[in-house]
Amino acid sequence: MKVKVVSRILEANERIAEENRKRFKEAGVFVANLMGGPGAGKTSLLEQTITRLKSHLRIGVIEGDIVGQDDAERIGALDIPVVQINTGGACHLDANMISEVLDDLPLKELDMLIIENVGNLVCPAEFKVGEDIKMMVLSIAEGHDKPLKYPLMFQESSALVLNKIDLLPYTKVDINKMRNDSLALNPKLKVFEVSCSAGTGIDAWAQWLNGLRSQ
Ligand code: MG
Ligand code: ZN
Repeated sequence: MKVKVVSRILEANERIAEENRKRFKEAGVFVANLMGGPGAGKTSLLEQTITRLKSHLRIGVIEGDIVGQDDAERIGALDIPVVQINTGGACHLDANMISEVLDDLPLKELDMLIIENVGNLVCPAEFKVGEDIKMMVLSIAEGHDKPLKYPLMFQESSALVLNKIDLLPYTKVDINKMRNDSLALNPKLKVFEVSCSAGTGIDAWAQWLNGLRSQ
């Protein structure tokens, strides 16, 4: 019975995601769903990316968190449109939550909308919100066992950003295993190695993201 209920929830979600997708298409905005565990560096990556791209790409952001406004304040400080969703306990964003805030964003004036999902390596990968692509951040400090333990997110993502590579000398993490296991799960995955705090690797990543918009 439980399986039936879950599949009904996902079906209902899919219908709303399709409506969102239509709205995004009409507005001509490219939408990316950014996922990753708590502390992977999703918001830091957004800060770095937006700083590099905002002069020629009109970016808006939806921040998803269980509680709090911290991330929306960080992004808002960059002077771009941002909306905070508080899920009040839910561990992922769904299509309906996104649909409810779309009127609060100047969609038609945006080239790209980035949705930062709730920090979680599991269910954000199961819920479509109407995005063009999913992408994920994994910090090397989370350990090289994560791709094989949480395969769905790696399979659903178009890009994997390996963050905090400046910490490599201080850990026993095998970054080659991290990369190879991720690619074994999803051979099409674009992998970037960055350090948001040191600023390394961000240019290549930002360039790739920018290129998606013009495709
Ligand atoms: Mg965040
Ligand atoms: Zn969840």
